[in-house]
Amino acid sequence: MAVSQPERVVGRRRLLRWGAALAGAAAARAATGAAGRTARAASVVDGQAWAMLVDITQCVGCRSCVFACQEENGWKGDPEGQQLDGERWTAVREVAVKGSEEPRFVRTECFHCLQPSCADACIVGALRKTAEGPVVYDAGKCIGCRYCMIACPFQVPRYQWDQTFPLVAKCDFCADRIAAGKQPACSEACPTGATLFGRRDELVEQARARLASEPDRYVQHIYGLEEAGGTSWLFITDVPFEQLGFARVGTTPPPQRTRAWMQRVPAIAVGIAGLLAAAHVIEGRGGNHA
Ligand code: SF4
Ligand code: SF4
Repeated sequence: MAVSQPERVVGRRRLLRWGAALAGAAAARAATGAAGRTARAASVVDGQAWAMLVDITQCVGCRSCVFACQEENGWKGDPEGQQLDGERWTAVREVAVKGSEEPRFVRTECFHCLQPSCADACIVGALRKTAEGPVVYDAGKCIGCRYCMIACPFQVPRYQWDQTFPLVAKCDFCADRIAAGKQPACSEACPTGATLFGRRDELVEQARARLASEPDRYVQHIYGLEEAGGTSWLFITDVPFEQLGFARVGTTPPPQRTRAWMQRVPAIAVGIAGLLAAAHVIEGRGGNHA
């Protein structure tokens, strides 16, 4: 379909605005440098920050956690869906296990990394780790570049492609409820204690105690204790994590690996903005001669 001149002008203007925002943000990022990134991403929270312990052996797949999340955040999607999407911030996956008649139910959502690469990658500071534990998102700052989606080692953030004004979507650990002295909606709703809310240090102790009390039952590993530099969500299970679809991400915080690449972003962004501006000027001259 042919694109009309006004549509082309609006498209160019939008591109220019995006380019200007990107260049401005990149310049700000370059100016704040390591200190700015540290404030957003490398704020390793102490053991007193809030965390969650998910004991997969205790999950019965009732999805009370998903329904509670749905109610809390007002989304309308199918709560039975097993994958995250632009509205579904938490999901329960049913996983068949070789040699067992019973499936396992595995919660999926943002792990609230201690050094979140999503926040490190965000050039406008729309994502940040709070001292309390949650990694929160400021829609007002987001320019839709979606670097956070590429950077997340757990492939958590989703984009609301079906919305007129799409945003990045992910669990915010019920940061508002925590600030109000309440626990997240999902852990409050869990009838079995499979999702336990508490201070990270205490939950790590709790997890270790469970592993020690039934060494033949539990896999002797706490997922999230060190993965990706440590996360605020911790998991224990009686089935190897790889069989349940948990990512092998190593223990190095991803921001340490991606920082070298991200440091080139300001120069790239300024270059893109310059090219867009040049294209705009050239096209404008062409239009004047028509
Ligand atoms: S799991 Fe992904 S989206 Fe969540 S804090 Fe970590 S890097 Fe960010
Ligand atoms: S509410 Fe608890 S038991 Fe039910 S699906 Fe969620 S984690 Fe599992």
